[in-house]
Amino acid sequence: MNNRKKREDTGRNPSPKELREAERILSLSPFQQQNHPTALEVDYEKLDHVRTYGILPDYYIDRPFTCRKCGKRQIWKAKDQKWYYEEAKGNISAIAVECHECRKAKKQSNQNVSNQNVNAQKDGAPKQVPKKK
Ligand SMILES: [Zn+2]
Repeated sequence: MNNRKKREDTGRNPSPKELREAERILSLSPFQQQNHPTALEVDYEKLDHVRTYGILPDYYIDRPFTCRKCGKRQIWKAKDQKWYYEEAKGNISAIAVECHECRKAKKQSNQNVSNQNVNAQKDGAPKQVPKKK
């Protein structure tokens, strides 16, 4: 993987078009989402740490969200979710709640506090919608 040079497409400062597209994809059925070109497969072997939670995702998909601090619309990219869950071993029920700038600012202001970049929040956690049919 050689995408170090390209630092775009991170979901930061998405264009209205990108946001619309991400929201449109998010409104599709799970089946359509999973088969969408932007969806990423889950590597279950890397999710050993979350097995106990019993709510493994079927796939990752770009998730638009509003920063709870500055209110900016951002996209939590599928690939960043994959990294967060599979490489950083993040809590599977955690979702991005603050934009990159706010997280960075927070990190700088309290370097000692462990990086709570992404907080697991009951209210904000993605709901596990029971499958119909
Ligand atoms: Zn923000």
